[in-house]
Amino acid sequence: MTAGESSAGPASLGLGASASATVSIGTPGSVGATRALLLGSGELGKEVAIELQRLGVEVIAVDRYEGAPAMQVAHRWHVVDMLDPVALRAVIAAERPHLVIPEIEAIATAELAAVEAVGGTRVVPTARATRLTMDREGIRRLAAEELGLPTSPYRFVESEAELREAVAALGLPCVVKPVMSSSGKGQSVLRTADDVAPAWSYAVTGGRAAVGGASRAIVEGFVDFDYEITLLTVRHAAGTTFLDPIGHVQVDGDYRESWQPQPMDAATRARAEEIAGAVTGALGGWGVFGVELFVRGDEVLFSEVSPRPHDTGLVTLVSQDLSEFALHARAVLGLPIPAVRQLGPAASCAVLAEGTGVPVFHGVDAALERPGSEVRLFGKPSVAGRRRVGVTLALGSEVADARAAARAAAAALRVELV
Ligand code: AMP
Repeated sequence: MTAGESSAGPASLGLGASASATVSIGTPGSVGATRALLLGSGELGKEVAIELQRLGVEVIAVDRYEGAPAMQVAHRWHVVDMLDPVALRAVIAAERPHLVIPEIEAIATAELAAVEAVGGTRVVPTARATRLTMDREGIRRLAAEELGLPTSPYRFVESEAELREAVAALGLPCVVKPVMSSSGKGQSVLRTADDVAPAWSYAVTGGRAAVGGASRAIVEGFVDFDYEITLLTVRHAAGTTFLDPIGHVQVDGDYRESWQPQPMDAATRARAEEIAGAVTGALGGWGVFGVELFVRGDEVLFSEVSPRPHDTGLVTLVSQDLSEFALHARAVLGLPIPAVRQLGPAASCAVLAEGTGVPVFHGVDAALERPGSEVRLFGKPSVAGRRRVGVTLALGSEVADARAAARAAAAALRVELV
């Protein structure tokens, strides 16, 4: 049986049907099971898997390596190179999922379009959205050139000479990022002409081109923003819901701390919602989107969007009655999204490990001592280099003390690599 022929679940999830279709969920392990295949099984996928499990969905986790966090809470798992279209097709044909839920960008997205075209499997949020957001170019061109949204000035380059020309055109400082990269890999800020050569070689070795494709990078004018936010946006059967803005701090292009709510005046927030609505509307489908925006004065610039829960949104595990992961699970299943209740100012702090080995967390008791503080230890099987291995979460009477508490909890943890 192919994905298109599977019978029990797709119609029950309202595939291709109107928003008012009844949603039914079968029992895991039975012929009527509602199956969700996660492409990428990191810490965000783990929380999505837990929420799907709570709703009785059969969860199949896929990643490039064994023991990935979401695999540890799934019904089944597979180790697959998701950039290999043949391998991707094989796992989808074998599992016949009703939902394919990407957690990462590095996927053979053309294959997802083929799967979606057959019918019977819904790609979250849509195959087209996964293709457009697979690299920085697709989404930047959609946002800036098709939708006319404000962004930093930018150019795409494929060599050091082109980078030099782009720097001359855009001016310094500017930011270079491989078009295919995340978590700051290959990303650097150029401040003088001497930075061009090292920035280019870092972009070439740090991006995903390093393991395959052509070396291509985006060069962006540096935005001297007052603050940056993630505006979590939920597209669901009954419309679009914007969550309270999340403020965050990034170091070397990687998230270190986030908090909710980020204070914003009403007009700026309305502008942020307008931009988020435009870009997520153009991508389409159901699910949570993490829309990243820079705010400078009363100006809001679009930076990028993830068509899935966002790492800075880990804070919603304590700040909201329904976290971004619970909302994603509901939205992708076509379930209602009620008004989300905020539980108070909250913050998250990333726990990093650096070195080589298997993490052991010391001081978990101390990290949890303060009421309102929580930890999530991701269960990543090993570290080689620098890796996010956990997060601390805290509620406070205001954002400042929530942030201080999350930082204190992270400082209380000592990660030993054995
Ligand atoms: P990104 O991977 O594009 O989300 O970039 C990671 C982080 O780098 C952002 O959250 C910002 O803190 C910073 N950043 C990226 N692009 C720019 C820019 N054009 N100007 C200033 N900071 C930037």
